[in-house]
Amino acid sequence: MISAQSLLRLALLTLLSVLLRLPTAQAAVRVVTTLPDLAALAKELGGGAVTVTSLALPTQDAHWVDARPNLALELSKADMLLVAGLDLEVGWLPNLLTGARNPDVQIGAKGYVDCSQYVQLLQVPTVAVNRSMGDVHPGGNPHYLYDPRRAKSVAAGIASRLVQLDPAQSAVYQANLTRLHKELDAAILRWEGQLVGLKGVPVVGYHNSWPYLADWLGFTIIEHIEPRPGIPPTPTHVSHVLQTMKAQGARLLIQESWFPTTTTQLVADKSGAKLVILPGGADVAAGETYLQNMDQLISALAAGLGG
Ligand SMILES: [Zn+2]
Repeated sequence: MISAQSLLRLALLTLLSVLLRLPTAQAAVRVVTTLPDLAALAKELGGGAVTVTSLALPTQDAHWVDARPNLALELSKADMLLVAGLDLEVGWLPNLLTGARNPDVQIGAKGYVDCSQYVQLLQVPTVAVNRSMGDVHPGGNPHYLYDPRRAKSVAAGIASRLVQLDPAQSAVYQANLTRLHKELDAAILRWEGQLVGLKGVPVVGYHNSWPYLADWLGFTIIEHIEPRPGIPPTPTHVSHVLQTMKAQGARLLIQESWFPTTTTQLVADKSGAKLVILPGGADVAAGETYLQNMDQLISALAAGLGG
């Protein structure tokens, strides 16, 4: 005879074995990015299969992020780290990576993704550039996400890495990539139509952030307010820029929101150019997409051109 106690134990063991064989809920891939726009792209591609955090805020210059412990904590829990590369983050990310002690996202690991590998780069130096001299673009220009065509290539790269890391959700990543590419293709046509008048227009930038945007839209960057990328403007240089702007008939002076506007407003007023403040990246924490942020950027340029 089997005792009631044995039966109960058998029933419990059976239940336990059934429970253990049940498929567990798929854990979301934890993606951490350096740039807000990379976070926005990852969110579009991953949807509910990922959680996404950007280390730099959309209001923050990603060359100079304060390596606070809470950012190291984010990195310590990450499955995947997306970086712009080309030493954009070299002033702060290495310390965070050391502090995070997370082997999954160290350079060379499966989860570490340098997105600059997916785009055709501009301004790659032919001779070694010394960062100690102040040039913060020693490996080529890292601001490629301002070109939506290059953002499409980056999105394809991120999707393929998500598939590698999380093959169970590969259909989701592929479908989202196809949808995003279609949306961006339509938007690119619309944006090019909005800014057809920008072709050949002489433009001055604050920081050297705009070669990819210029490459796409066909305007000409004639000068920068910073004498070298990362070096604050000097009176001598600003006076030289003003002369150049007057001589070449610059129509726009463009800058990201985190740079000061005192000098640029003065230069714009004296030269007759229009000062245009452009958003630096999508506010993904507030649900903003890459496309919505680019919409704002294009509208600001169009308003500057028309005003
Ligand atoms: Zn830069």
